[in-house]
Amino acid sequence: MANIQGIPVYKEIGQTPAPAIARDHAPVVVVGAGPVGLAMALDLGRRGHQVTVITRLDFIAHCSKAICFSKRSLDILDRLGVCDAVMQKGVTWNLGKVFWGDGAEPVYQFDMLPVKDQKHPGFINIQQYYIEEYLLDGLRALPNVDLRWGHVIEEVTPRQDGVLLDISTDQGRYQLMADWLIACDGARSTVRERMGLDFEGRVFEDNFLIADIRMPDHQMPPERWFWFDPPFNPGRSALMHRQPDGVWRLDFQLGWNIDREAATRPENVEPFIRAMLGDEVAFEREWYSVYTFQCRRMARFVHGRVIFAGDSAHLVSPFGARGCNGGFADIDNLGWKLDLVLRGHADETLIETYNHEAVATADENILNSTRSTDFLTPKSAASQALRDAVLELARDHDFARPFVNSGRLSTPVGFPESPLSTPDEDAWSGGVPPGAPVLDSPHEDGWLMEQLGDDFVLLSRDWAGEVPPGLRVVQLGQVAADRLGLGEGGACLIRPDHYVAARWKNPDAARIEAALARAKGGQIWHS
Ligand SMILES: Cc1cc2nc3c(=O)[nH]c(=O)nc-3n(C[C@H](O)[C@H](O)[C@H](O)COP(=O)(O)OP(=O)(O)OC[C@H]3O[C@@H](n4cnc5c(N)ncnc54)[C@H](O)[C@@H]3O)c2cc1C
Repeated sequence: MANIQGIPVYKEIGQTPAPAIARDHAPVVVVGAGPVGLAMALDLGRRGHQVTVITRLDFIAHCSKAICFSKRSLDILDRLGVCDAVMQKGVTWNLGKVFWGDGAEPVYQFDMLPVKDQKHPGFINIQQYYIEEYLLDGLRALPNVDLRWGHVIEEVTPRQDGVLLDISTDQGRYQLMADWLIACDGARSTVRERMGLDFEGRVFEDNFLIADIRMPDHQMPPERWFWFDPPFNPGRSALMHRQPDGVWRLDFQLGWNIDREAATRPENVEPFIRAMLGDEVAFEREWYSVYTFQCRRMARFVHGRVIFAGDSAHLVSPFGARGCNGGFADIDNLGWKLDLVLRGHADETLIETYNHEAVATADENILNSTRSTDFLTPKSAASQALRDAVLELARDHDFARPFVNSGRLSTPVGFPESPLSTPDEDAWSGGVPPGAPVLDSPHEDGWLMEQLGDDFVLLSRDWAGEVPPGLRVVQLGQVAADRLGLGEGGACLIRPDHYVAARWKNPDAARIEAALARAKGGQIWHS
């Protein structure tokens, strides 16, 4: 099956033989071995569950897709044990610069790591296929994960106690009964389509050209550079990012009514590159493509025993790097919840809180992505005038700079309304409230993030009371406690996805126990 549909291959894997029996059974099936499906399988596999991954291709594709991975994703990949490889290969950056017209100085710049001294940088740039490869390396160490390459989901029949799948392979079809199905099968999800479900939202009428080019000797700091109305793409926008291996991503806005096939021909792409970089620069083509985008999501991500994550559940524009980063947020939220349910330590209704929290995350990503896109491509003379006024003012006035929106980049989403959080009883100023991700800090010889693991943990500043059985306590030093706003005797309860579930100035065992029960779905929210 390799190289089907002309998709270039990054790494051959080879077909997995079809099972000998006509009907197979699996407790958890993940559909799709994109970054989100692989991360989901790794999370559940590391927790000891038997996971079966069904995926169409029998290779890792060499596509030009995600390159920008956020600090939050790095924290998640670290929890999954694959971050060292990503850090070694990737290009670290924190600073983004926005230019306007032919100005050589940025009208606005932003720092993606405003709080310094954390384990991971604001962002790392690395090609998506490397991320898939590292996740796969992590999975290969797990005997309880069964990866089936070159297996295609054809039919999906939901049942009360699971879902029946019809799967095709080159050696014929078979059926697989899954107790739980996690659909990570991408934007054109077969599972979504076969269940008669769809997206809701907006499609944007614009085209963007991506030129990934190899320029090993090109010098530029590792930063994100974005241009509004540059001389090399007048009236439109452009973007430049550095990737590993001496590869650069150049992105040019093209407008709506274009010949998409012609737009990727070298004779049409290379004048853009020359105009941007000058005639002397030597480069080699890595990949030329044109993309359009949508900002849409499913109404619900949980349908009985079928759960959607990643692009199968929601789509955003690449400006802001929220697609794959949003997908990792999904699996981070779902992994521990499904683990508790599978172990019988939580009621099945806990999965409904995945719907609540992942939909909230998707909505925030879609909102930000839509706003960026509207700023990038004003749809009326009035919004164009407003945008130009913002850019003009941003040159000299601080107050206008935050309004410059070249794709507000992915940051973790909080769930202030989460049913799993225990609302504050004490009065707080600062720190990290329930429903927000914990803030990293130096801790002893390492980092606070390294202390968290993938179970519940109580972070305390010299609190020495009784804790519920099995709950690990980490005593914080001054810097970590200050960042969390914890005074002497204070503590906060952290979920397995590193979100704060509750915090107290002076906790007692009963309140900690109640907050822990609530965070495991003891008090469940109903839509
Ligand atoms: C140009 C571009 C730039 C981007 N830049 C960024 C960025 O910088 N940062 C970021 O976070 N995101 C970015 N994205 C988005 C990112 O690439 C996607 O969000 C990401 O690929 C989603 O991963 P996924 O695992 O959900 O889906 P996919 O990567 O689409 O994987 C889906 C998997 O399901 C399999 N599959 C499909 N149908 C079936 C079936 N019937 N049976 C079995 N298997 C099936 C497929 O073969 C595939 O393995 C970008 C996207 C584009 C196009």
